[in-house]
Amino acid sequence: MSAAILSGGTLASEIRAAVGADAGALVERGVQPRLAVVVATEDESAAWYVRSIARSAGKVGIACDVTSLGPASTTADIAATLVRLSADPAVHGVILQTPLPEGAALADLDPGIAAGKDVDGANPDSLGRLAAGLPAFAPATAEAVLSLLDHAHIELRGRHAVVVGRSAVVGKPVAHLLLHRDATVTICHSRTADLARHSRDADVLVVAAGRPGMITGAQVRPGAVVIDVGTNPTADGGLVGDVEPVSTAEVAGALTPVPGGVGPVTSVLLLQHTVRAAQRQVRQ
Ligand code: NAP
Repeated sequence: MSAAILSGGTLASEIRAAVGADAGALVERGVQPRLAVVVATEDESAAWYVRSIARSAGKVGIACDVTSLGPASTTADIAATLVRLSADPAVHGVILQTPLPEGAALADLDPGIAAGKDVDGANPDSLGRLAAGLPAFAPATAEAVLSLLDHAHIELRGRHAVVVGRSAVVGKPVAHLLLHRDATVTICHSRTADLARHSRDADVLVVAAGRPGMITGAQVRPGAVVIDVGTNPTADGGLVGDVEPVSTAEVAGALTPVPGGVGPVTSVLLLQHTVRAAQRQVRQ
């Protein structure tokens, strides 16, 4: 078997075109959709990511303001900034770039980003709402997984989905989104005994562990759909996933590439969430 490659480029282009049209319609009504990015780190890859968000936002007509607080900022400084931006009617979406300064934790940023502007589902309240089936923005990466599955017309109802990773930004929200779609979900993590026994039982396998090549073809059920969320930098400046692509493609029915799978869909969904937040705030 040779897996179908589920690349994210086409889907990302479709979503980007729709977001551009929606942003344009808001601007025509006198509303400039605006995303605020709060940065409290000097981390180079974070800076690169923020520049790329700002560039992508600009291309679809979304304004992007970056507030740099510096790595010496405290939890109180960050929380005050998030509260100020959440209260600003000109701002429709707010994201807090990680990593946070030493000693600052997302869970301590209470109240943090208001739910209606939490376009990357970072506030623990958003995860709680997602788990409860209440309206909330899911983290863009988690939603990108479901969007790729839907785009490829993968049936989820009644299928066994196995998620490797239980972080609040990827593993847990992906598991809830799959559960809402009537999949039977198993969540694995670093303490899971015999991971391969679970992964080999998956109809849909989502891997988000941050461990390069940890899943090989031997750990995949023939014909399974494998979504590789991992993004691991290589020494030569490249990027590899958590799934070893060659052996996995021989066994799986479908596989997302890294780079070019989940990543491009994630960034454009962040922009889609910002436009949706602006549309909702205009309707209120
Ligand atoms: P994280 O916070 O480090 O969480 C990793 C999860 O994987 C944890 O739950 C951990 O288990 C589990 N894990 C680690 N080693 C494992 C092993 N050997 N066996 C089973 N489970 C294991 O990472 P994250 O933020 O969720 O990100 C995961 C990956 O996705 C990273 O490569 C990240 O770069 C990538 N990512 C990609 C995008 C994108 O847009 N494509 C966005 C966000 C993240 P414990 O809980 O037991 O420690």
